[in-house]
Amino acid sequence: MQNLEEYKGVFVFAQQLDNEVSGIAYELLGKAKDLAAPLGAQVTAVLIGSGVEDQCDKLAEYGADRVILVDDPELKEYRTEPYAHALSSVINEFKPEIVLVGATAIGRDLGPTVSARVATGLTADCTVLEIGDFPLVAIPGKEAEQKHNQLLMTRPAFGGNTIATIACPNNRPQMATVRPGVMQKIDPIKGAKAEVVKYNPGFTPNNRYVSIKEVVKAVNDVADIMDAKILVSGGRGVGSAENFKILEDLAAVLGGTVSCSRAVVDSGWKPKELQVGQTGKTVRPNVYFAIGISGAIQHVAGMEESDIIVAINKDEDAPIFDVADYGVVGDLNKIVPQLTEAIKAQIAAK
Ligand SMILES: Cc1cc2nc3c(=O)[nH]c(=O)nc-3n(C[C@H](O)[C@H](O)[C@H](O)COP(=O)(O)OP(=O)(O)OC[C@H]3O[C@@H](n4cnc5c(N)ncnc54)[C@H](O)[C@@H]3O)c2cc1C
Repeated sequence: MQNLEEYKGVFVFAQQLDNEVSGIAYELLGKAKDLAAPLGAQVTAVLIGSGVEDQCDKLAEYGADRVILVDDPELKEYRTEPYAHALSSVINEFKPEIVLVGATAIGRDLGPTVSARVATGLTADCTVLEIGDFPLVAIPGKEAEQKHNQLLMTRPAFGGNTIATIACPNNRPQMATVRPGVMQKIDPIKGAKAEVVKYNPGFTPNNRYVSIKEVVKAVNDVADIMDAKILVSGGRGVGSAENFKILEDLAAVLGGTVSCSRAVVDSGWKPKELQVGQTGKTVRPNVYFAIGISGAIQHVAGMEESDIIVAINKDEDAPIFDVADYGVVGDLNKIVPQLTEAIKAQIAAK
């Protein structure tokens, strides 16, 4: 039996690639600070790698009170076994109450492996994390069973048709993964310093240690839609791969980037890297144009945090208008070129 009282603090797995901390780690630190406040707890970043010590200050600037540094030559490149050994040893030694991991390719491999090893649960792809009571509504006559200060982990379930809030009341740590772009980093506190604790559980290669023969980096010629300030996003209503030209023209005059719905990826009109939504990317641009997109819940989940949403759709009842700040009802084949020309004329007049 675990003594749950022994488990304290909010830990973040500070993923690094090529000895540089990934953006997701900073986003999770921002969320960890929110969660730590009501618990009166510390925020700890767990930095695992080889020769990564110089990254500790950056983690402090983004909200880590403490960094646990596991630095060993066996950890140079990500491999499941030594990384899982490192993180589960940190959990067993330091006993955190909460552990957050990015739902990246690495985190999706590492998080569940570690949660199984330390015998606790993990909720994947959370969209909301908060501290509260569980069960959310006390069971009549059983109020005493309601547990306080639990991590409430909310995520879409059943193909996005419902939203589930999940807790892990009887085991520690409470573990969650979160996709990049969902949480927000804090403004960096320049010059902030964290306590650095060096910890090495010892690494003895066994038959689960794969050996990496060669690292081949993919050349990515597709824009990262998560960085774009303006996204011109097209859906099935655009009609064909060729017709995306009118969206590309609009994006060009605005200095924006083209993205799309899953229907477009499934039709083979655009690559998966440009897909917005629950099984695509989560975006937060200043302006999001949803053109010929119906506004299915799985799409909206990836773009509803955009500052301004402009929807163009021929169906005035399309659900996209429920989340749009501005809506134009009509044929995109007429409206989009007109909009592009109007913006061009505005720019020329300046
Ligand atoms: C588990 C799961 C995960 C999913 N993940 C994602 C995801 O990550 N991202 C995602 O996008 N979807 C996702 N989906 C799919 C989602 O449910 C919808 O099927 C999809 O978003 C629909 O894409 P769409 O809006 O482009 O197409 P449609 O729903 O077919 O909508 C096309 C729209 O274009 C409009 N239109 C047609 N012609 C014109 C015209 N000439 N001018 C103006 N408007 C026009 C129509 O009125 C309509 O509203 C997921 C589904 C499941 C089950």
